[in-house]
Amino acid sequence: MAILMDGKVLAAEQMAALKKRVDALKAAGRTVGLAVILVGDDPASQVYVRNKGKACEELGILSETLRLPAETTQEELEAEIDRLNRDSRMDGILVQLPLPRHLDEAKALAKIIPEKDVDGFHIENAGKLFTGQPGVVACTPKGILHMLKACGVPMKGKEAVVIGRSNIVGKPVAMLLLNENCTVTICHSRTADLAAHTRRADILVAAVGKPKFVTADMVKPGAAVVDVGINRVDGKVVGDVDFDSVEKVAGYISPVPGGVGKMTICMLMENTVEAAENVLDADGIRTE
Ligand code: NDP
Repeated sequence: MAILMDGKVLAAEQMAALKKRVDALKAAGRTVGLAVILVGDDPASQVYVRNKGKACEELGILSETLRLPAETTQEELEAEIDRLNRDSRMDGILVQLPLPRHLDEAKALAKIIPEKDVDGFHIENAGKLFTGQPGVVACTPKGILHMLKACGVPMKGKEAVVIGRSNIVGKPVAMLLLNENCTVTICHSRTADLAAHTRRADILVAAVGKPKFVTADMVKPGAAVVDVGINRVDGKVVGDVDFDSVEKVAGYISPVPGGVGKMTICMLMENTVEAAENVLDADGIRTE
């Protein structure tokens, strides 16, 4: 039976450590602030934004959610981002994705100043990750790495296979695993004989968006299997991994819910706290 990589436990530990950093910043005269922009009324986005607000509350981070109507124009959205870029109370700005179809996501994300880009999606931060420079790392990939390290999963010299090549999960997590000296393969919908790749993996990350896509026959015995998927089936949230069969083969496995999702929010909080610490380092004690 696989060891459970329990996001709830790991996130609780991390949140306790973050609380101390938020309190230290407060003592130095800085209240950490996070602004979230939500455009439209996508139900899943509403849930994510609510959860982010709750995490801020738990840590004592000032959180402001700007709810804009679905018909908001690109110019209006960018004007709000500009305003928040200049708002010294806000250390982090997050534009909740997906945006309504008429809006240009890449252009909107590029408007956020990289120092406040706590989601790590700005091209400058993505570029820093790809060129090995310190920058803001996207929350889900960062959370996956944290989880693997905290659970003592060996990485150096190991075969890592990532299923999925999105800019927000697949590509950045592959880069982080490469930085840990894994030998990395990225698979996608055109990969020929996917199972031949996944069966070689000591670390298998599933970021596909298809319920129970990874089955036991695709997994190497003893592998660490990270399930990123969030799929709604009959009102229930299920991952991309068939947990019941895979846990019998894997050495480590993360559950859904209670796995990567918990780590993602925790890493968003960490990126926000780091952004505030950077401001303090740069400016000294600020009074507002
Ligand atoms: P995308 O839809 O952007 O990417 C999915 C990837 O899976 C694509 O690269 C696609 O390949 C690949 N894929 C699709 N079908 C197959 C197949 N049959 N075989 C192999 N590869 C396939 O999704 P995201 O990366 O944004 O998200 C992935 C999942 O993770 C979703 O369920 C999402 O909800 C979840 N998620 C969870 C988060 C968390 O905090 N836990 C955060 C972010 C996402 P191709 O490029 O060829 O189309």
